[in-house]
Amino acid sequence: MPPAAPVRSDYHVHLERGPWTLEWLGRFVETSRARGLTEIGFSEHPHRFRECRAMYPPRDAVGGWVDAQCTESLEDYVRLIEQARRAGLPVKLGVEADFLPGYEAALERVVRAYPWDFVIGSVHWLPPQRRGEPWWGFDDLSRIEAWERRDVLDAYRRYFRLIEEAAQTRLFDFIGHPDVIKVAGYRPDADLADLYDRAAAAFAAAGTCAEINTAGWRKPAREAYPARPLLEACWRAGVPTLVNSDAHSPEDVGRDFDRAARIARDVGYTEVATFSGRARAMVPLG
Ligand SMILES: [Zn+2]
Ligand SMILES: [Zn+2]
Repeated sequence: MPPAAPVRSDYHVHLERGPWTLEWLGRFVETSRARGLTEIGFSEHPHRFRECRAMYPPRDAVGGWVDAQCTESLEDYVRLIEQARRAGLPVKLGVEADFLPGYEAALERVVRAYPWDFVIGSVHWLPPQRRGEPWWGFDDLSRIEAWERRDVLDAYRRYFRLIEEAAQTRLFDFIGHPDVIKVAGYRPDADLADLYDRAAAAFAAAGTCAEINTAGWRKPAREAYPARPLLEACWRAGVPTLVNSDAHSPEDVGRDFDRAARIARDVGYTEVATFSGRARAMVPLG
């Protein structure tokens, strides 16, 4: 038997800036093919879907933001991916599920209720520290000035504690953009090695992977997620990886994958994870 064609995938792609049509989805597939990828996994945010509203805090605690976003039906998304499959497109059904402490039960319901190929665990929100304070969506770059009022090292510590907790739920196939707390370009003047080692150990204990996400190069952080020392900690702990783009528009699918793969190889990785029906298979790093 001839060897199977190599699998090269991008499992972190958002359709959110366009309609639920095969035409829009097809533009993402076109870029993935042009960049030599063999499959593409879509990973919409649950905050878009009415069925997922209970995964987030009530209106007052998130400034109404989730209510404004939460206007669509998850059924339309699932139906579009099934339609694309029937049309012969190499697509996978995924979700980038937020981890918010206290909302695990609703998260678990959504994880169990749909035929996902993969579930990404991401932290985009830090909980209030005082009663009455809202949650902080720290990756909202339209409100980057919020960082000026924050203790940066404390924000990093709280974030890293949450990705450990996210891994411990064992609800996720991989952790999304593992150090996205740096997205706005604010970095603490401190050695983060302990935070990195603890996060990597938590991922390993939970049997979850950590993605390399190239979107960081397109953000004020000017660096892929995770930073190389965190990727090295993951490698030492035996945490598998995969390379993803976090594209929100067709032209970003598969972007900077060669650069990311070089870093992964340099650190020691020779394989990346692929997923089908939430089962993981390792394939050679392309
Ligand atoms: Zn994200
Ligand atoms: Zn994303």
